[in-house]
Amino acid sequence: MGPSLSPYCFRGDVLRGRYNECHGERNMTRGLGGWPRCFERPRSRRGRARPASLALLAVGLLPWGVPCFAQPDTEVRITRFEVVEGLDMLVGRGGNLSVLSGEDGILLVDDQFAPLTSKIRAAIAEIQEGPVRFVLNTHWHGDHTGGNENFARAGALLFAQDAVRERMSQDQEMRAFGRTIPASPEAALPVVTFSDSMSFHLNGEEIHVHHAPRAHTDGDAIVHFRRANAIATGDIYFNGSYPFIDLASGGSVEGMIIAVERVLALSDEKTRIVPGHGPLSNRAELRAYRDMLVTVRGRVTAALREGTSLAALSASQALQDLDGRWGRNMVSSKDFLRSVYASLSGS
Ligand SMILES: [Zn+2]
Repeated sequence: MGPSLSPYCFRGDVLRGRYNECHGERNMTRGLGGWPRCFERPRSRRGRARPASLALLAVGLLPWGVPCFAQPDTEVRITRFEVVEGLDMLVGRGGNLSVLSGEDGILLVDDQFAPLTSKIRAAIAEIQEGPVRFVLNTHWHGDHTGGNENFARAGALLFAQDAVRERMSQDQEMRAFGRTIPASPEAALPVVTFSDSMSFHLNGEEIHVHHAPRAHTDGDAIVHFRRANAIATGDIYFNGSYPFIDLASGGSVEGMIIAVERVLALSDEKTRIVPGHGPLSNRAELRAYRDMLVTVRGRVTAALREGTSLAALSASQALQDLDGRWGRNMVSSKDFLRSVYASLSGS
């Protein structure tokens, strides 16, 4: 087995030798459940891409946790799924997007990577002509904010929780990937930020945005389209997989569970749920995901109480019964166990 992997890497991919490739200013690999994923390489304030670490490239780790298919952007397709009338989910590379359309203009939730902006625009134009009026980021990660600068320069107003702007404004240590993510350019930063909650009133819709503290990161937003009965969760929900918990960005397993409970409380059996990653979902699937998180937390808590080390817990295959459903995509059992252990032990 190779070296410790980024949570975005598949163990299977490494075994099959599908290490990342480096194409110009982007780094690519295959990851996140076989869905196409690609993080644009972060840029410095001066707009120059930083050189990738040779050591990281050599072992197949991505400088910016860069999951994606090793295919050029020209081959990426943005696929649209209607959530309800007037609300669509777009899937390309990176986190899922939500598009609210109507006569008051377009609200976009998350915007993937900068090189995909023109394709995302084209997909939105199929829904409705006209510029994007508002962009709301569910958290700071580059596969959810990479298009910010492009949309802002075209006139969109950027919104996010306070911590998102704060983190994007400064270099960030991504411990899970062993590298520093440079600050974003000024034009990519959210212009309007909120602490606990905020609301949009447009297109006959009421959109309530709730902060989920210390969950996937410290700045996660849950986006509730009340009339549509739909919720965009951001990365507190990886549908069909163990999630990545960004502990270095203030995330925690406890916060993830609280955030998921909150979405469950806002939903009913008809609610459509747009996860941060993975296919369009519903309450029953989210409940199963919550149960998995609670089960894993319980096992790790018991192990910590007994003084079991992470190595011993990992060797005991503590999640074996769950791995078939949750450990085959995106984040491996080992990586997830490690993050939950670290989250609960404070290590
Ligand atoms: Zn994320």
